[in-house]
Amino acid sequence: MKRFDGTKAEREALLQMTTDSLLEFYEQVSEHPIGTIWPQEMIASIVEKFDFETPQAGPEAIQELIENLKQYTIHTPHPNYFGLFNPRPNFPSILADLITAFLNPQLAAWSHAPYAAEIERNLIHQFCTKFGYSSTQQDGTFTSGGAESNLTALICALNQYIPDFNTHGLLKIQQLPRIYCSAESHHSIVKAARSVGLGAYSVIKIPASKDQCIDIPLLTQQIEKDQAAGHLPLMIVGTAGTTGAGAIDDLHAIATLCETHDMWFHVDAAYGGALVLSADKHRYLAGIERSDSITMDIHKWFSVPMGISVFLTANPTILHQAFSVTTAYMPKKGEQPKEIDPYVHSIQWSRRFMGLKLHLPLLLFGWKGYQEVIDGQMEQADLLRQVLIDEGWTVHNETVLPIVCFSHPTLQAKSDQTQKLVDGIVRTGKAWISTYPIGEKLCLRACITNYNTDQKAITDLMNLLKEHLTLQQA
Ligand SMILES: *Cc1c(COP(=O)(O)O)cnc(C)c1O
Repeated sequence: MKRFDGTKAEREALLQMTTDSLLEFYEQVSEHPIGTIWPQEMIASIVEKFDFETPQAGPEAIQELIENLKQYTIHTPHPNYFGLFNPRPNFPSILADLITAFLNPQLAAWSHAPYAAEIERNLIHQFCTKFGYSSTQQDGTFTSGGAESNLTALICALNQYIPDFNTHGLLKIQQLPRIYCSAESHHSIVKAARSVGLGAYSVIKIPASKDQCIDIPLLTQQIEKDQAAGHLPLMIVGTAGTTGAGAIDDLHAIATLCETHDMWFHVDAAYGGALVLSADKHRYLAGIERSDSITMDIHKWFSVPMGISVFLTANPTILHQAFSVTTAYMPKKGEQPKEIDPYVHSIQWSRRFMGLKLHLPLLLFGWKGYQEVIDGQMEQADLLRQVLIDEGWTVHNETVLPIVCFSHPTLQAKSDQTQKLVDGIVRTGKAWISTYPIGEKLCLRACITNYNTDQKAITDLMNLLKEHLTLQQA
């Protein structure tokens, strides 16, 4: 069917115009507005014009699509995006996604994509080793994101501690499994509990102490109380880098609790896990080597396009126990007992070659390149903190991660002034920040999530803050 391919000349023309337009964006994004707040009806009315009854010409369709995406998207690759953990993707990682789309390796079965599967296995091994797992006690898989990685962790914990979970699920359990995490933990933990049929009530959110970390004495009391009530304390999720304020839980204390009470110890290091590559700040992850499993997103601090996270575990058989199935249409194993089909270790079956967008940047920049970027972003955040303090703002969170939660003494605690100020800044399209509550206080939140965020970006932000604070006071 030639229609789906087009002619060689058509393909070349389409590819050329697409890359021209995308390269312009990649190079000039700092001159584009970051984006603003749009009414849903307006966007829907633009999109609803597509009817799919009359095929369009390729060049026009692509041009319009890219233009609209440029206009109606919050541009996380912009240096003035001080937002959630969405990065600017580095260039090799974009090329990797392109290569993957062209070759389309099928990562379900080793035999279909042996080179790709071994590249991923090697990356998993290298990360396990960096986190301090022993070379014989490690395993892992690539996932679509932190949410899938955290769900994988819960499924592993259930397989480890519920007899016959694989076959009977939860139907034969005598005790209610309990999952503990801090009130600051990510909502994907609750979603995971709901997905496996445990329900949201099985997740016990322990209050965070003043430093936003899980309160260890309260956690200890709760576990003992639940044990006394006949429940089954199953898993503690320690967060290494909370989404709001970047707090890192006391991982050694949690490890000890898990050893004492025979529970699964999972670390949600979706964002903060990248600290493992820092020259001197990896010590903030101390205790993570005692964990049973780790979630680490690649599409956050590793600056690659979305859709990639890793799940690592110190239990070399649990993924197999949880996910191995046999099918009639799969080729039977040959004489190579060492090959591992990715699908027997993962929730997914057909799967994209995600690992390439980490492998290629690592080949070109090395661990050292990543280390410099990660440490550089933490230095920029130190600079931002200093400028804020110099200008009369107060920083309300304490973290080594490049997340700054701050407020100004003239912004009242219980008024909506802070949100208004942030909305005002976002509407200019010149910077993107958000709000986050620290205790009772609604703060402004700025995260250095882009490796191109420099002194100029910080000066831009400070000018906007000054301007909009004056507007609030007028
Ligand atoms: C972002 C994040 C998640 C969810 O990860 P996704 O990749 O967005 O699914 C989970 N936990 C923490 C701590 C996060 O920051």
